[in-house]
Amino acid sequence: MDIFSGEQKPLGSEQAARPYRILVVDDSPMDLHFLLNGLSDNFVVSFASSAKEALSLANQFPQPDLMLLDVIMPDIDGYEMCAMLKNDVNTRNIPVIFVTGMQDTSDKAKGFNAGAVDYITKPLEIAELEARVQTHIRLKEQSQYLESMAYFDPLTGVPNRRKYNEVLQREWARCIRYHHQMSMIIIDIDFFKQYNEHYGHSEGDNCLIAVSRLLENQGGRPTDLFARIGGEEFVMLLPDCNAAGAMKKAEKMQTVVNQAQVPHAGLPDEQYISVSMGVASIFPSHGQGALSLFQAADDALFAAKRDGRNCISIGKSDTTPGIHGEEARQHH
Ligand code: GH3
Ligand code: MG
Ligand code: MG
Repeated sequence: MDIFSGEQKPLGSEQAARPYRILVVDDSPMDLHFLLNGLSDNFVVSFASSAKEALSLANQFPQPDLMLLDVIMPDIDGYEMCAMLKNDVNTRNIPVIFVTGMQDTSDKAKGFNAGAVDYITKPLEIAELEARVQTHIRLKEQSQYLESMAYFDPLTGVPNRRKYNEVLQREWARCIRYHHQMSMIIIDIDFFKQYNEHYGHSEGDNCLIAVSRLLENQGGRPTDLFARIGGEEFVMLLPDCNAAGAMKKAEKMQTVVNQAQVPHAGLPDEQYISVSMGVASIFPSHGQGALSLFQAADDALFAAKRDGRNCISIGKSDTTPGIHGEEARQHH
């Protein structure tokens, strides 16, 4: 993503020059040799002769773009292995093609049911195999691109409201299951209307991009989510994080924005862009929806605005275990 133009490149376009990686899984040395020979002109081919080895390779970076899978193998059979790949978030997007001597329609159906995208029977023509591999890699890239359009904000490149909603629902359920606390920080740029009025809408857009760049990696954990949920409003979702931890994150984010000193000459007494934040923490339970957490954080944000902006307010609610049991505010 080019942070200045705000244009998002289609996924894969920057990868057009790189050769695609194929992982071939087959326990027959002869078949492996045939496939490696046939495909290595146009692809980077690696191989595994057991399912166990293949699962480990599929999880290593750079991951394969596609896998060719034999059905009959010594440890775990191909169907089972395919199902395992499809059940793991880290590998489920790797297209799997079965390459096997088993010709029965029921075998083929079993392969597709396990999550494969194609099924090729031996003996095979390398040209046909190559064509199918190319097709499936292209389809995967297209669907990834569509997904990126549906889940990412085109201006800033960060996850959008739809993504935030999905992650919130998923993490809410996970926190209920594991009795974890969940925290949320809503971040709103101060006096942004005046910024637009002073600098123009296009500079306003650049400012949104700049603020996103400053904040997007402040979460730290893979399950943390930073998203743009409104015009100049962002959220940091922090599963398995308590109020004190969330407050620390919020302070860090505020410091980062203040230290960046993005000029804001649209106001007589304001020099730089600042943000106000609302923090809330809850132990998710079945009795309440995820919206209650958002509501608590939004109320806190309102309090931060009321208290003069460029500050953090932590929500006081029945379900927010506050710091020292009471509402805390931080001014900068
Ligand atoms: P406060 O300190 O209370 O948050 O005041 P504010 O001016 O930041 O908030 P308000 O909600 O009044 O105005 C938000 C402004 O954000 C209004 C709109 O012009 C601007 N805005 C919303 N989306 C975009 C966008 O995509 N690009 C640009 N340039 N501006 C946007
Ligand atoms: Mg604002
Ligand atoms: Mg706002």
